[in-house]
Amino acid sequence: MASVPLVDDLVAALGAGAVKAEPLDRILFSKDAGATRGEVRAVVFPNDAAGVAAAIAVARKHGLPVVARGAGTGLAGGAVPADPAVLIVTMRMNRIEVDAANRTAWVGPGVINLDLSRHTAPLHLHFAPDPSSQAACTIGGNVANNSGGPHCLAEGTTSNHVLAVEYVDGEGQVRVAGGPAPDPTGLDVRGVLRANWSFGRWVSGGSIANWAALEIYPILSAGMISFAAAGAFRALQNLVAPIHVLLRTIDTFLTPRAARRFKSGGWGGLRALLSRVYWLSVLPAIALLAGVSLFSAPLMRFLYGEKYAGYSGMLPLLALAYGLWFAYAPLQACFKAIPWTRPVFLANALATLSIFSIGLLAIHYLGLAGAIGGQALNGLLIGAVLWLTWWRASDRGPRAA
Ligand SMILES: Cc1cc2nc3c(=O)[nH]c(=O)nc-3n(C[C@H](O)[C@H](O)[C@H](O)COP(=O)(O)OP(=O)(O)OC[C@H]3O[C@@H](n4cnc5c(N)ncnc54)[C@H](O)[C@@H]3O)c2cc1C
Repeated sequence: MASVPLVDDLVAALGAGAVKAEPLDRILFSKDAGATRGEVRAVVFPNDAAGVAAAIAVARKHGLPVVARGAGTGLAGGAVPADPAVLIVTMRMNRIEVDAANRTAWVGPGVINLDLSRHTAPLHLHFAPDPSSQAACTIGGNVANNSGGPHCLAEGTTSNHVLAVEYVDGEGQVRVAGGPAPDPTGLDVRGVLRANWSFGRWVSGGSIANWAALEIYPILSAGMISFAAAGAFRALQNLVAPIHVLLRTIDTFLTPRAARRFKSGGWGGLRALLSRVYWLSVLPAIALLAGVSLFSAPLMRFLYGEKYAGYSGMLPLLALAYGLWFAYAPLQACFKAIPWTRPVFLANALATLSIFSIGLLAIHYLGLAGAIGGQALNGLLIGAVLWLTWWRASDRGPRAA
C-alpha cells in the first residue's frame, strides 16, 4: 500500500486490516450495482460504531466526505461518491442480538437481510422486508433505502420494522434515535426514515373494504338500480352516522394504547383492554342502532319528507351491517397497533373481493336490499377473519404472530 497521509491516518485509527486503498480496490468499490462510477480515495471496514466515528474523524481532517456502503446492491448510485471520498463499508458490523420475548433484534448494519431471518428462524421469527436482493443486501442499506419486497404490501417496508437506529453524525458523535417504546422521546426515527409509510400503513392497516363498502355500494346502487335508490342508501347511512363518531374515536384512542399494552402485557393485556372497550361502547352502539331501527320511518320523514320514506324498512338491515362493523372495529384497531398487519390486509382484501362478486350479484337480483346486504356480508367476512386470527394468535402466545 503506497504511503499516503490519508491512508496512514486511517490505518493508525482502524488498523491495517480495515483499510484498502490499492488502485484495484478503489476501482472495485467505485460503483454499486448501478451504472454510475465515482472516485474512492480509500475504503474502510470498521467493526463497530467507534470505528465509523474514527474514520469520519480522519476524513474530516483531510477535508473529504464519507459515503456509507453495505453490500453495494443499490441500483441508484447511492453508495457511489459524487466527489472523491472515503468509503465506509459496513459488512463487518454484523452482530445480531435477539430479544425473543419482545420480538426485536439489535443488529449491525452489515447483517445480510436473509441472514437475520435465518438466525431467528428457530424462534419462529423473521425479518419481514424481503427485497429480491435479500441474499446479498444489508440491513443498513435496507434502512437507508426503506427497501421492501413482494410482502411489503401486506407487511410493510423496512421503516415499518425499525424502532431505533444508532448512527454516527457528521461530527463523529455516536447517537441513538428512537427506542423500544412505541412513542420514544427525541428524534422520530421512523418519521425520518419512512418515505411511503403512510401508504403502506393505509393499505395494510386501514380499512379499504370499509371505505369501499361505504362509497362503492351507493355508487353501484346508482348505476345498477337507480339514482333514487343510491340517494336512499345515503339517507339511511346518515341516520346511523353517529356510530361513525364512536368507531373513529375507538380507532384513534385504542390503537396507540393497544400498542403499549401489547408490549407490556402481551395478548393477555390486550384482551383486558379490548373487553373494557367493548363493555364501555356496546350500550351506546346498541341503543343508537336499535333506536334508529325502531323509529326509522318517522326519522326519514322528518329529515327527507316523503322522498325516501318508502325505503325506511331497510334500516334494520343497515343497522345489522353497522352492528357487524362495530363487532370487529375495536379488534381491528388492536391489530393495527401490533406491527403485524397481515390479518387486517387479508380481511379487507377478501371483503373488497366480495363487493365485486357476490355484492354485484346481490344488487342485481335484490336491488337496494342486496346493496345493504353486501355491506353486512363485508362486516361478516372481516369480522370472521379477524376473530379467527385473534383466537388462534392469542391462544398460542405472542410469538404465534
Ligand atoms: C437483483 C436486485 C434486486 C433488487 N430488488 C430489490 C427489491 O425487491 N426491493 C428493493 O427495495 N430494492 C431492491 N434492490 C435494490 C437494493 O438491493 C436495495 O436497495 C438494498 O436495500 C440495498 O442494500 P445494500 O446493502 O446493497 O446497500 P448499498 O447499495 O450498499 O447502499 C444503498 C444506499 O444505502 C446507504 N447505506 C448503506 N448502508 C448504510 C449505513 N449503514 N448507514 C447509512 N447509509 C447506508 C448507501 O450510502 C446507499 O445510499 C435490488 C437490487 C438488485 C441488484
